[in-house]
Amino acid sequence: MPRFFLSADRLNESPVIITGEDHLHMSRSLRLREGDAVTVCDGEGNDHLCKILRFSKEETELSVIAVSANESEMPHRVTLFQAIPKGEKIDYCIQKAVECGVFEIVFFESDRTVVRLEGRETDKKIARWQKIAESAAKQSGRGRIPLIRIASFESLLKEAGEHSLSFFCHTAEGQRSLKTLLREKKPSGALSFFVGPEGGFSEEETQAALDAGIEPVSLGRRILRSETAAHFILACLAYETEL
Ligand code: SAM
Repeated sequence: MPRFFLSADRLNESPVIITGEDHLHMSRSLRLREGDAVTVCDGEGNDHLCKILRFSKEETELSVIAVSANESEMPHRVTLFQAIPKGEKIDYCIQKAVECGVFEIVFFESDRTVVRLEGRETDKKIARWQKIAESAAKQSGRGRIPLIRIASFESLLKEAGEHSLSFFCHTAEGQRSLKTLLREKKPSGALSFFVGPEGGFSEEETQAALDAGIEPVSLGRRILRSETAAHFILACLAYETEL
C-alpha cells in the first residue's frame, strides 16, 4: 500500500489534507482513485490507514480509518557516524542504511576524506539527502524518517559517550569482533558506530576514539568499502536483536 509521512498535528485534522509533492504523487504518479487506501505515518511510530475522499487540483483529502503502531523500527536507536563518502556513494549509503533500520546518520569529515562539508552548498546537500532518506523510509515501511546531519568528528566522540554502546570499525589486526562485542555488552536503548573513510582512520583519530572510550571492532576477514560497512553492521545488529 502506498505510504506517506505527515506530522501528527496535521493527521489530527479532519479531513486530513495532503498538498505539494505527496498530493501530486497520489493523484498523478500513482493514479490513485477516490476510495483507495493509503498509509500515512506520523513519523513517531504510528501508521494511519486512510481513505482518499477527494482530489482537487491543489490537494488530496483523506479520512483516517484506523491507527496502529508501526512495527518496522529496530529495537534500539542506532546512529551511524559515517566519514563522508564521495559523490553518488553518499546517496547509496543513506538509502541502504535507512532500509536497514538506522535511526539517524551523521556525516563527518575525517583526516582522509576527500569531500569537504562547508560552504553555502551544504544546506542544499543536506536537504537533498533528507529527501533520499524520506523516500527510502517510505519504500521500506519505516515508522520514522531518519535525520541526516553533519558534525565534527570531535563532537561525535562526545555524543557517542551518551549512548549505551558505541564502537568504531577498525581494520587493524587483533580487534575484538563485532559479534563478541555485541554479546559481551548487550546494548540497551541508543547505540552508535563510526565507519571510517576509504583510506581508513588516521592514527590520531584512532587514538582519539580509544581515549574517548569508543570500542574498536573488526568486521571480519574482508575489508569492506566504506559505504558497505554500515549496511553490513546494521544487518548484523538486526540478526542479533530482532530476527
Ligand atoms: N586501508 C583502509 C584501512 O585499513 O583502514 C581501508 C579502509 S575501509 C575501505 C573503510 C572503512 O570501513 C574503515 O575505515 C573501517 O571503518 C571500515 N571497515 C571496512 N572493513 C572493515 C573490517 N573488516 N573491519 C573493521 N572495519 C572495517
